[in-house]
Amino acid sequence: MTTGTTADVVIIGGGIVGCTTAYNLAKRGTRVVVFEKEDIAQEASGRNRGNVRLQLRDRLELPIAREAIELWQRADEELGMATEYRTTGNLLVTYHDDIAAGFEAEAERHRTLGIDARVVGREELRDHVPDITPEIVAGFLTTQDGHVNPQKATWAFATAARRLGVEFRTGTRVTGLVVENGVVRGVESEGGPVSSPVVLNAAGVRAPELLGPLGVRIPITPAKHQILVTTRLPLVTRPYLRCAGPRVSFCQTLDGTLLLGMGPAQSVGFETTVSRAHISNIMRETIRLVPTLASARVVRSWTGWFEMTPDDLPVIAELPDARGLFVCAGFSGHGFALAPAIGRLMASLILDGQATHPIDELGLDRFDAMQGHGRAREAESVISRLGRLTADGLK
Ligand SMILES: Cc1cc2nc3c(=O)[nH]c(=O)nc-3n(C[C@H](O)[C@H](O)[C@H](O)COP(=O)(O)OP(=O)(O)OC[C@H]3O[C@@H](n4cnc5c(N)ncnc54)[C@H](O)[C@@H]3O)c2cc1C
Repeated sequence: MTTGTTADVVIIGGGIVGCTTAYNLAKRGTRVVVFEKEDIAQEASGRNRGNVRLQLRDRLELPIAREAIELWQRADEELGMATEYRTTGNLLVTYHDDIAAGFEAEAERHRTLGIDARVVGREELRDHVPDITPEIVAGFLTTQDGHVNPQKATWAFATAARRLGVEFRTGTRVTGLVVENGVVRGVESEGGPVSSPVVLNAAGVRAPELLGPLGVRIPITPAKHQILVTTRLPLVTRPYLRCAGPRVSFCQTLDGTLLLGMGPAQSVGFETTVSRAHISNIMRETIRLVPTLASARVVRSWTGWFEMTPDDLPVIAELPDARGLFVCAGFSGHGFALAPAIGRLMASLILDGQATHPIDELGLDRFDAMQGHGRAREAESVISRLGRLTADGLK
């Protein structure tokens, strides 16, 4: 048991990364304390849309995403709680012949990676989205992708972790990291200090704040994204539907509501305002895509922050100048999908010194090489760039 002032591992952040890591560490007998300044799943992990996809994944994330899908499929049984994970597929559609012309090559590229992918013509589109406008010329479907209820899933991991002895200190902010002679010793918090030989910074978009005083700069910045929810509707779409431009997207939850959004996310700092104008824009493009949705009613809207890095990939590393201090953050608006596998990866990295998937290219040093060179890596094609949920959108 944790004594209250010591732990084997301290985790900062009760989002999905903190909760899945805590769960996997506790399964291996580790004494874990999780600090969360608010409550479980209050930031990105409770505000996202739960899209789980292999479609248009970066090659560095793909093995993690594959394992994550297997783990999502077993999650309810393993955790003893409902995450509402379902295999739905992901369907990217377009109004434009030039984008559609690239779909076949993209489907072929996916198939060579072992992903079930194909181009869907006008007729078949209606099997997936019965009332889709005939203006849409084609779709690109990946069938293994899915959808999860993010709040339920985060709570399910937190509850299972608590059952295994993890101590959650919610409503308690970590105020500082204690590092002496290049080794982490624990944290200072609003509830007092906790000593620990290992600290994981899983503070999402806030991860840089705790590292600044150590002289470590980690380029994670917020980008605001707004979500709308409708009343319950009869079947609108089976897959998670994304339009290649304008970048409106939506999925239908188990209870029939639609979760709608439209990129690009906005780089406006830590700002949370719900924009009425954006609600109108999202609904205009949604109705253009599925005209029968003209009568759909929006009942709620909220915003959340994508945690953007310059190359839209997370930072997963032990800090070279602070042994025992790990960072796992900056998933750039698409990290929820990966989380069950990320939890395993982090537990293995912390306890065995070896990650379950290659992370060499996900360290902080990659940003040094980028100084003045813009993005570190370009995506493979115009269409694959749509997979990047960047703040500045498709250029
Ligand atoms: C609107 C929106 C839609 C999205 N849609 C999808 C999607 O469909 N699919 C997908 O895969 N991803 C999606 N994402 C991205 C996904 O939500 C994130 O990548 C993921 O949730 C990140 O999890 P996390 O645990 O790293 O961060 P968070 O969930 O942000 O958790 C970090 C936690 O740390 C806490 N914290 C911060 N600082 C401190 C401190 N000093 N002390 C204590 N606690 C602290 C915060 O309160 C927070 O709860 C979306 C994000 C948003 C905002």
